[in-house]
Amino acid sequence: MSRPRIVLVRYDEIGLKGKNRSFFESRLIDHIRRKLADMEGVRYRRPRGRILVDIDETQVDECVRRLRMIPGIVSFSVGVPIRPDVDSIAELGIQWIEPLLASGKPLTFYARTQRSDKTFPITSPDFSYQVGAKILQKLHDKGLSAEFKTPEFVLEIEIGHEETVAFQGRVPGIRGLPVSSGGEVLTLLSGGIDSPVAAFMVIRRGCRSHFVFFDNQAFLGRGGFDKTHRLAKIVNRYQWGGRLCVVPFGNLQTAIRDLCTPAHRVVLYRRMMYRIAHALAEKYGCLALVTGESIGQVASQTLENLAAVSCTVPLSVFRPLIGMDKKDIIDEAKKIGTYDVSIEPHPDCCSVFMPPNPAIRSKVDQLEADEERYPWKDLMREAIENMQVFDLDRS
Ligand code: ATP
Ligand code: MG
Repeated sequence: MSRPRIVLVRYDEIGLKGKNRSFFESRLIDHIRRKLADMEGVRYRRPRGRILVDIDETQVDECVRRLRMIPGIVSFSVGVPIRPDVDSIAELGIQWIEPLLASGKPLTFYARTQRSDKTFPITSPDFSYQVGAKILQKLHDKGLSAEFKTPEFVLEIEIGHEETVAFQGRVPGIRGLPVSSGGEVLTLLSGGIDSPVAAFMVIRRGCRSHFVFFDNQAFLGRGGFDKTHRLAKIVNRYQWGGRLCVVPFGNLQTAIRDLCTPAHRVVLYRRMMYRIAHALAEKYGCLALVTGESIGQVASQTLENLAAVSCTVPLSVFRPLIGMDKKDIIDEAKKIGTYDVSIEPHPDCCSVFMPPNPAIRSKVDQLEADEERYPWKDLMREAIENMQVFDLDRS
């Protein structure tokens, strides 16, 4: 039989939220349950200020991998449940530390105890001291010494009402707030590097993101959809319950190409993307749009052009990358696992029918004059009618 392990999950930021604390905690535990749902025999407990997850030794690696993707977790540790007596814990500490001394290199260590059970008869410093002294007694000759300030190895002991756990090390979580504690948003997701990172950033702040992709399959083939669908699924792993709406965009783009000022094309595409996204946000109860735009990255992202696009919708538009350098965005994309898919070669629909000199400072009245020249309302209705929706937890 494999041996039991306990994962101690820490979540500082939620702890700070006063009366909302139990709301945030239940959102977080709900997400953890969903993430680990297919792992057999897992149990959950919720002593104050912590979530404890009971697993067994064989489930540790998978559990660590999944918990690292859950917003709201500051850090976690995988520990061993143990009797709260000095001898048992010292023995476990010796088992962990002795192999580290095998090379002959000296090692510094420290034992640290926290008690949530204040009725426990020994104080935390005394308990740490007694455990530490036992370990030192056994391993001092092999090169172990105690060090308070910057020990290389810290044996941690948590003495709770129900259970005592010993562990070593903390795995960093992605921090932020639990998913769905902050409401729903709609991210405009292209197949590029930026928009998946933008979506991740709002998901980490507790929003559930749905996604919309504007697809020009007639000109670009199915590759754009495949890529964006994979990206949406990767980002959806940091949350659950996301939808991807795929809106056919070819007819709108062709009309803009044929009937409007060439220099305005990209900004006109964008205005239509925002309008359609707004209609979908209303349909799905999303309170804001999210994009991967950042100032000056491309011609359509000057302040003037961003303003000329934003003014088409009454919704908040979040641009979490607005002040970031491309290099930092790339680093983030690598961390969240979207970069390799994003760089697969496939053009985005905005690059279709690109004029030689796109306008850098569009004027809204001129854009509106262009929009008189093509039946955007009809084409918008048609695009929404022909949209496909994918449930990202399933498909
Ligand atoms: P990305 O890397 O996210 O594609 P980008 O630097 O290529 O961004 P643009 O192509 O100007 O910049 O796109 C800016 C933003 O507009 C994107 O981050 C995305 O939010 C949205 N967007 C662009 N094309 C599409 C599309 N085909 N479907 C949905 N959203 C799009
Ligand atoms: Mg792009």
